[in-house]
Amino acid sequence: MKIILLGPPGAGKGTQAKRLEENRKMVQLSTGDMLRAAVAAGTDVGKKAKEIMDAGQLVDDETMIGIISDRLDEPDLENGFILDGFPRTEAQAIALDTLLDVKDMKLDAVIEMRVDDEALTERIVGRYTCGSCGQGYHDTFQKPEVDGTCDKCGSQEFSRRADDNAETVKSRLEAYHAQTAPILPYYKDKEMLKGVDGMADIDEVTAQIEKILSA
Ligand code: ADP
Ligand code: ADP
Ligand code: ZN
Repeated sequence: MKIILLGPPGAGKGTQAKRLEENRKMVQLSTGDMLRAAVAAGTDVGKKAKEIMDAGQLVDDETMIGIISDRLDEPDLENGFILDGFPRTEAQAIALDTLLDVKDMKLDAVIEMRVDDEALTERIVGRYTCGSCGQGYHDTFQKPEVDGTCDKCGSQEFSRRADDNAETVKSRLEAYHAQTAPILPYYKDKEMLKGVDGMADIDEVTAQIEKILSA
């Protein structure tokens, strides 16, 4: 299966992508994670992206399309993939179609995760991640079983993203509504768009996605 999880920042894309990795051995392709790795490694892309990400704006299409094109050429995608955070503009959506054509790949579904803006800020500001295995958590909604210890790997080191603060969230939500939400009709016209209620609890959202993928 090859799918896109589409939704605003904090909608639960990463959380659900990680579950699909576990349950279906699909591979999560998170352009946000790729950019954060580039920032950490101090590459040219990372140097250029850092300020833009901290401001809650979008990195340019050409850079993003290049990153995804290279990633799709890697040999680990035989069980499919979940695009998480890409495409985010109409230009990216159109370029993705061309890339998939050239690489002889076909998307199975585009799943929109719908969450109210008011809930998103709370989700993002409370978000943190295991520094060792990348498992995601939340101060209120998804706590580790043992306080301060990762359920998955036992690590006690966690990190929070520089851009997960109330001020940057505002710009990110604006960018979503202005630049990303307008691509929903593009997939609707192709009859590829499915929706899930992202306001439901995490297990319920997983069940809704499974239902779509098993149909
Ligand atoms: P995205 O990848 O779409 O930005 P995440 O998957 O990182 O979003 O989720 C944002 C935060 O909200 C995380 O801290 C996560 O634990 C929490 N979260 C994810 N899905 C839900 C849900 N259905 N209900 C409540 N909290 C959620
Ligand atoms: P979230 O799901 O919480 O919005 P991401 O991890 O997907 O966050 O993205 C973090 C930041 O990385 C975005 O705010 C943006 O600056 C940049 N970014 C990630 N993916 C893209 C993309 N496809 N196009 C442009 N910028 C991107
Ligand atoms: Zn861990």
